[in-house]
Amino acid sequence: MTDSAHSEKSIPRNFITDIIDTDFKEGRADHVATRFPPEPNGYLHIGHAKSICLNFGLARDYQGTCNLRYDDTNPVKEDPEYVRAIERDVQWLGFKWTEIRHSSDYFDKLYNFALELIDKGLAYVDELSPDEIRAYRGTLTEPGKESPYRNRSVEENRSLFEQMKAGKFEEGKVCLRAKIDMASPFICMRDPVIYRVRYATHAQTGDKWCIYPMYDFTHCISDALEGITHSICTLEFQDNRRLYDWVLEHISIDQVHRPHQYEFSRLNLEYALTSKRKLNFLVQEGVVDGWDDPRLATISGMRRRGYTPQAIREFCRRIGVTKQENVVELAALESCIREDLNATAPRAMAVLHPLKLVIDNFGQDGITETSFTVPNHPERLELGERQISFGRELYIDEADFREEANKQYKRLKLGAEVRLRHGYIIKAISCEKDESGRVTLVHAEAVPNSVGNNVEGHKPKGVIHWVNAGDCFKTQVNLYSTLFTDPNPGACEDILSVVNKDSLVVLKDCCLERSLEAAVVGQSFQFEREGYFCVDSKTSQQGHPVFNLTVLLRDNKKAAL
Ligand code: ATP
Ligand code: MG
Repeated sequence: MTDSAHSEKSIPRNFITDIIDTDFKEGRADHVATRFPPEPNGYLHIGHAKSICLNFGLARDYQGTCNLRYDDTNPVKEDPEYVRAIERDVQWLGFKWTEIRHSSDYFDKLYNFALELIDKGLAYVDELSPDEIRAYRGTLTEPGKESPYRNRSVEENRSLFEQMKAGKFEEGKVCLRAKIDMASPFICMRDPVIYRVRYATHAQTGDKWCIYPMYDFTHCISDALEGITHSICTLEFQDNRRLYDWVLEHISIDQVHRPHQYEFSRLNLEYALTSKRKLNFLVQEGVVDGWDDPRLATISGMRRRGYTPQAIREFCRRIGVTKQENVVELAALESCIREDLNATAPRAMAVLHPLKLVIDNFGQDGITETSFTVPNHPERLELGERQISFGRELYIDEADFREEANKQYKRLKLGAEVRLRHGYIIKAISCEKDESGRVTLVHAEAVPNSVGNNVEGHKPKGVIHWVNAGDCFKTQVNLYSTLFTDPNPGACEDILSVVNKDSLVVLKDCCLERSLEAAVVGQSFQFEREGYFCVDSKTSQQGHPVFNLTVLLRDNKKAAL
């Protein structure tokens, strides 16, 4: 697989590609122009990845365009840190935008369109308070009530709107509303607010404006001004499509190439939060180590966890694009990264819970090797070979030795044999223990001539990994599991109550084969018999990498002993 999504297979057919194909056939469109419109109020997450793969993927597949548009109508929430993170994440996922735009680029035009609606008698300045507006709006079963300010004259509305712009009103005292239908079955059509007063410095426009347009008014006009053909959003905007079309119908804008809105279902992923507001809460509360905490399903967290762009794109391919709301199993995401890393990651040996083992007959019986040459990948010889050092004292994993065990235990026990991965068959002879009964040292003997060979009369029970105690690299390894104990944390009222206290286990004294000392950020390895691990980008130092668990070798739920 390549790094860029642009040289990749096309997205699987879905209802949106069907719409595009029909539009082409029936002459409603002759090109595809999409946009990805994040609000710069947080970092992107796996849900955004679905939207990115769809919008940029359609542009790629139909040789069209896709803009990155900051939906920046709300000045108080913006932060340049988020803008940098969004751009980095989109590029890292392998996509290139045609242009970067901001909704705020269109503030002058939006203002003029608002004046046009006023002039047509289709918008009015309302002086009801936000609470009153809410109360007047009615419910799904009851129609709304008209505001007493609804029937002002065009002149009065114009003058008041100009005063709004000139800063003559306090926040919340007035707003501009579209004059549509207070009895509409669609609440969003009951005279929606389209401009409000807000005294805040905007990242792009500074203090030029003290009135800001609302999303529903801004989005459709931005789409039209950019020549977007297919404006794709998530299902919660289904009703708002009426308003999208209403605004474009009633302003002087190209009516031939009007954009259309289509809705698909959001991605909901087990054990993951896909709400920037809630993610922000966890970051602010210090529950996680920033937006790029490897336990978060943010793009930056997944990158730090060792996910690859290819695996995330493949996941988005597999879940597809539909209108059905569902929750995707975490296992579906994990199998994508496992497949990718299985094919690409070099193998290495790392002992996470070290237990010393002494080869008592080392230096005798022809047990004289001090290193073995081993392939970096069992199937991909082009990934080369490396030397693994061997000696009298080794570390094996605590879990790989028991004094006694039944036949199912395919590891080392007293009196029985296992093969050291890439090395000798060994037999455990005896062990030493501390006062608490914990095994502190295992004595073993190696079988002569058994490296790479079967030896008559010796049947090792299994294969275990190891490192040379006298020549290994000691470092920290971070083990991660789900951040939440509840598979649907987004639905929990008190998120903090479902945080998994054991979601990060820091192992400070792991013993890794020497070659891993040279690993750098961006590299991933399969630690044999354990899982896939990457170099942590935040805490590693030159010549001293720290490793993060990306994913275990097998789905834990299914894993046998
Ligand atoms: P949040 O609640 O996290 O702020 P949002 O939908 O407001 O989510 P935006 O940044 O405004 O986030 O969204 C940018 C684009 O990404 C939108 O087109 C939105 O529909 C899409 N998107 C956001 N979350 C998801 C999701 N879970 N699945 C699919 N698309 C999503
Ligand atoms: Mg939003």
